Amino acid sequence: MSILIDNIGELVTNDPGLGDGPLGVINGAALVAEDTGVAWVGSAEHAPPADERVDAAGRAVLPGFVDSHSHLVFAGDRAAEFAARMAGEPYTGGGIRTTVAATRAAPDGELLDTATRLRAEALRQGTTTIEVKSGYGLNVADETRLLRAAFEVTPETTFLGAHLVPDEYADRPDDYVALVCGEMLQAALPYANWVDVFCERGAFDADQSRAVLSAGLKAGLSARVHANQLSAGPGVQLAVELGAASADHCTHLTDDDVAALAGAETVATLLPGAEFSTRSPYPDARRLIDAGATVALASDCNPGSSYTSSMPFCIALAVREMRMTPAEAVWAATAGGARALRREDVGALRPDGRADLLILDAPSYVHLAYRPGVPLVHRIMHNGVIR
Ligand SMILES: [Zn+2]
Repeated sequence: MSILIDNIGELVTNDPGLGDGPLGVINGAALVAEDTGVAWVGSAEHAPPADERVDAAGRAVLPGFVDSHSHLVFAGDRAAEFAARMAGEPYTGGGIRTTVAATRAAPDGELLDTATRLRAEALRQGTTTIEVKSGYGLNVADETRLLRAAFEVTPETTFLGAHLVPDEYADRPDDYVALVCGEMLQAALPYANWVDVFCERGAFDADQSRAVLSAGLKAGLSARVHANQLSAGPGVQLAVELGAASADHCTHLTDDDVAALAGAETVATLLPGAEFSTRSPYPDARRLIDAGATVALASDCNPGSSYTSSMPFCIALAVREMRMTPAEAVWAATAGGARALRREDVGALRPDGRADLLILDAPSYVHLAYRPGVPLVHRIMHNGVIR
């Protein structure tokens, strides 16, 4: 079964070998998908025949968004905390405890329903690949059932037992770290391919974070880190040192942190929804890009500090508030996210890649930032199936 998408006004391939500029843009393009993959891209006049034809009518087509950072498995609602923050209360990260209490009390079915609903919400807005973390269970049984639910909605799942020290371990945090590195990690392994830690003052320090990441790596997981969100700290350096795929947040960076990311495989994943929702200063994307770091954009979708599943919203914030160009922001939300998940098959539209794409109700990808808040996704192809 093959599908020809014809009459594409502007095709973003993210492959400079296929088109113009870093986004590899082809004007007047066509694309053929076969089964779950891309079979052909190029100029519309050279398009081969296919079983079915979709007329894009001059619209822009781009790779599906790759959201490399989300927390979709939880219970409860923190709208009141958001309202209080907008009335002037500072964000400390302590609200995670509220979600932990609600999540522990929720049955499996409710957790899976929430994750499924939010996954569908993200897909409607163009997110074809998404990473989902645990982190609101903070004990062996609850972290395991969160990961089991996450694994039902995506293959990219992250064990975040080290999100916060739960209240019952408040006076013996190192015992909690030992639990995370031991029994909890073992229980998580069947349902996770990543390990993550919130390396931050008030969460886990450098030694504790190193212990968690090292244990995960030794068990065969790959690493990613919540780093330098609320203050400058050791997270970014640790991520680079341990070869983590991504250092996420990167809001407070020293010159050494920027230099470390500039020469590293570790992607700097920026989560502007968090700064928006906590009314905090945004990360300095220009400084990172100009230094040569690889930048990704992700939603950080979670009930406390960034309750948005919208990658177009993150693109608009990155352009308006973080001085990224529209092209840089679109690349970061697609190819950048793929790098942050070490995926070669998504984040670009080229032969042998996955047929995950969006048809925008707009002539150019620039409209994602130019028309903020407007639902511009016209149609989505996910795993070769168009809807
Ligand atoms: Zn997060």
